[in-house]
Amino acid sequence: MRTFAPPLTIVALIALLTLAVPAGASIPALDISGLQHELIRAPAEYLSTTSDSTLEDVQDKDFQPLTAASVNQGITGKTFWVRFRLDNTGGTDSIPWVLHHETSYLDHITLYYSDGDDILRKVSLSDRVPFDDRPLAYRTLAFPHATAAGGYTDLYVKMAYAPNKADSVSLNIHLSETSHFAERSRGEYMAYGVFFGVMGTLLLIALLGAALLRQVVYLHYALFLTFSTLMWAALNGFAYQYLWPSSVFLHNEGFHVLFLATSITALQFSRHFLKARDKFPLFNRGAIILQVIMAAGIGLRLLGVYEPVLALSFASLALLALLPMIGYLAWRRGQRYARWYALAWAVYGIGLLISVLSAGTPLFNWGMDPLVFTQISAVLESCLLLVALGERLIAWDRDRRQALTLARQDALTGLNNRRVFPQALEHYQARFRQTGDPVYLIMIDLDHFKELNDQYGHDAGDCVLRAFGRLLRTHCRPGDTCLRYGGEEFAMLVQVREERQALRIAERIRQAFEQYPTQYDGHFIRHTLTAGLAPIFSANRRIEWGDIIREADAALYRAKEQGRNKVVVFSAPADGDPVKVSGQQDVDGVKAD
Ligand code: GH3
Ligand code: MG
Ligand code: MG
Repeated sequence: MRTFAPPLTIVALIALLTLAVPAGASIPALDISGLQHELIRAPAEYLSTTSDSTLEDVQDKDFQPLTAASVNQGITGKTFWVRFRLDNTGGTDSIPWVLHHETSYLDHITLYYSDGDDILRKVSLSDRVPFDDRPLAYRTLAFPHATAAGGYTDLYVKMAYAPNKADSVSLNIHLSETSHFAERSRGEYMAYGVFFGVMGTLLLIALLGAALLRQVVYLHYALFLTFSTLMWAALNGFAYQYLWPSSVFLHNEGFHVLFLATSITALQFSRHFLKARDKFPLFNRGAIILQVIMAAGIGLRLLGVYEPVLALSFASLALLALLPMIGYLAWRRGQRYARWYALAWAVYGIGLLISVLSAGTPLFNWGMDPLVFTQISAVLESCLLLVALGERLIAWDRDRRQALTLARQDALTGLNNRRVFPQALEHYQARFRQTGDPVYLIMIDLDHFKELNDQYGHDAGDCVLRAFGRLLRTHCRPGDTCLRYGGEEFAMLVQVREERQALRIAERIRQAFEQYPTQYDGHFIRHTLTAGLAPIFSANRRIEWGDIIREADAALYRAKEQGRNKVVVFSAPADGDPVKVSGQQDVDGVKAD
């Protein structure tokens, strides 16, 4: 911040006018002998006029007391005058002071002042010149001066927008003793520094999220944060001071563009976050139409259309206050994470609505204070949205796991399906390497299943498959893997010390299936199965990955050939006797105990 001695620029701005000084008595006086900081209020007076009014025009007019109720004037193209005397007649020291307007977007402030002499001086402050031309490097238009000990300063302050550019008018003028002004603005710049720091950090997190998680919704969130933060930077005057100090165009024409861009990105984020295309098609379509209208608004603004775009930009921000409702709906419909979204937008939406009403209508007399509260709610909102995104990510992960489980599950029997087979093989291979215990594959095929289907119907077949699924599960020890390989074929992976243990397991299953017919629709359906058994990981021989199923299948095929309802163990052809057979005829060798 610069020192407050009037720099050369202000000297250049001051034009000495030979105007008749208004009669001192007619200007209401404010005692500033103990000035720290205050808002200019009655007995100060104000007058609203057409935009072309001059000092001579207004001097004889009846002004009205400037009360809190007259501060917010809504959106208007009128020009306002405020007059008052700063009285230091009782003071013993000269009082240096700074007068500044509340908003950063007021176009022109013209001050006519006299220090008790007969000369009126004129100072013109404007945001339609580069930022660096300001007498004071402050985010809103500010004027530094001093009132001598025992003296007074009369002031006429004219506040105006550029011709034909109505905008929201606040009559709040701050007056501070210079050192107080420095202290206050230091605190204020610090607080805003924290605000922009937090928003910047959230933006960084969002961008990281987009990059690392490859989720486009984080990118939409980042875009929303960017425009929302830029909007606040512009509204507070920081964008002009620090981001584009020489762009008069951006400072003056950028507001409504940023309002609209904030709304567009808020809707874009919302549509993606709530999966609106699938879950809320009506809202989705409405939001897209609004986005197109808002984008057209930006285009029109850049083409020079003013008032309709101003109305549209205010309305679009106010519209965001409806977002909590759609968030609430989404939550009620099962999108758990939408509750954070609803809460976030409830907080911010109310803030925005009050801000827009304060700035756009004379409804409240709070000046622009709601903007400050809305910015606090903006931080809260952004944090809550980040929480919402986190919870959405957790839900997404849960859904993904669930889908993965479903994809590995056989819908009819509830057993695993063959998708788990390769992974299971790797798992058993590792276990074999660790323990040295061999691993066996048992391939099971239900006998004459086609006939069973033909005889009892397909539903009966399903019933038998389910029953066999249950049976298999009861024989599946912890550490074994049972799966439906396809159709009426099942597979089981077991790790046991000796082959006869694996054979015993298969044989028990075979016997149980034979022993317990399935009850269906008054019928007792009798059934049998055939199984082939092969070692897949064992110390004696190495088996090629591709041969794993082939060998168990070969044993199964052999068992089918030998009349079904059997378990056959695969042996390598070199053995001479290619297979060992167990089954109904020779169960004694592998008695189920
Ligand atoms: P084999 O004793 O030689 O194994 O004769 P099969 O009839 O059991 O064998 P095949 O491969 O000729 O026929 C298998 C039958 O299993 C044909 C098919 O309709 C039936 N099947 C496959 N999946 C299902 C299912 O999910 N439900 C029912 N009900 N039947 C099924
Ligand atoms: Mg078959
Ligand atoms: Mg079969």
